[in-house]
Amino acid sequence: MRKDDGMTATGLTDGFGRKIDYLRLSLTDRCNFRCVYCMAEDVTFLPRSGILSLDEMDRLCSVFIDLGVRRLRLTGGEPLVRRNALGLIRDLSRHLDRGALDEITLTTNGVLLERHADALAACGVRRVNVSLDTLDPGTFRAITRRGDVRSVIAGIEAARAAGLAVKINAVVMRGVNEDHLEALMLFAHGRGMDLTLIETMPIGEVDGDRSQFYLPLSEVRARLSRRYHLNDLPDRLAGPARYLRVAETGGRVGFVTPMSHGFCQSCNRVRLTATGQLALCVGRDLFIDLKTPLRSSESNGPVRDAIVAALLQKPRGHDFAVDQLKAPTVTHAMRMTGG
Ligand code: SAM
Ligand code: SF4
Repeated sequence: MRKDDGMTATGLTDGFGRKIDYLRLSLTDRCNFRCVYCMAEDVTFLPRSGILSLDEMDRLCSVFIDLGVRRLRLTGGEPLVRRNALGLIRDLSRHLDRGALDEITLTTNGVLLERHADALAACGVRRVNVSLDTLDPGTFRAITRRGDVRSVIAGIEAARAAGLAVKINAVVMRGVNEDHLEALMLFAHGRGMDLTLIETMPIGEVDGDRSQFYLPLSEVRARLSRRYHLNDLPDRLAGPARYLRVAETGGRVGFVTPMSHGFCQSCNRVRLTATGQLALCVGRDLFIDLKTPLRSSESNGPVRDAIVAALLQKPRGHDFAVDQLKAPTVTHAMRMTGG
């Protein structure tokens, strides 16, 4: 158990008056998949020497929590490939125990969930998001360039058996998985899971041209509405997705539309890369170094001051455009900021 230095909670607000109470931490930029929309086949990962230790990640998260962050999401790359990720989660769960944190969640490709689901539940994790773009084994392998969909499904079942609430996230791709979304929805809703659909974003270099498979979610909705009764749910559920309920299944489908409809006015989050860079917006190359102030002192004062000052630089929003899918203007990789 690590020692905290007893800073009082003041709450974090950015320059536009938005309350920032949600932190996403990329545990590693490494991954056991190579999803076509996320990274190149021969991607070069960061040298291990540049990555924060788990103790440093714990310290940074603890400073954010003392500043008022109430929700923590661990992501990556693939968070579960980071050695002793479970140890970090176990240590961070002390903030759940003392009531300073509402939840620790995970976004994962699901492959290692079968192995870790019970331990995650024992660490106080109650919800995981699993990325799954199709149930079709061949399409799944083509998208991930190496994955076996059966291992992800086994991971989902293990998570559910461990009592975790699971949400499925799917990146929608024209001509790739657009015909598989209904099956994915029935799979999710049949198990009491929400399905969130995400538009392809132009973040980081990949092989090929992402614009080929960009599909606005308005088209997906129109297609679903030919077979199902879709009822808009009034409010966002603490995130960028707009949800609707499908009358026939009783389940919810979320739509994350960074390309076709902005949602930045309600942004409540910042992201931390595995190298200790604070990403103020997923849609911009705007990073503030927290590693240097963290390492400059045993006291948390310098890094705390750096965070409070950085928040004032958080931009109003991103300005993705569909033509950027051909040549992304946001050059940082999705695996750095964790989606
Ligand atoms: N490896 C984990 C996973 O896949 O869930 C966590 C990291 S991944 C970067 C987080 C999310 O970002 C995933 O749901 C993934 O599908 C999504 N993602 C990656 N690249 C994307 C892109 N270019 N556009 C939209 N979503 C993307
Ligand atoms: Fe890995 Fe997630 Fe990126 Fe796929 S989306 S390559 S699983 S980090």
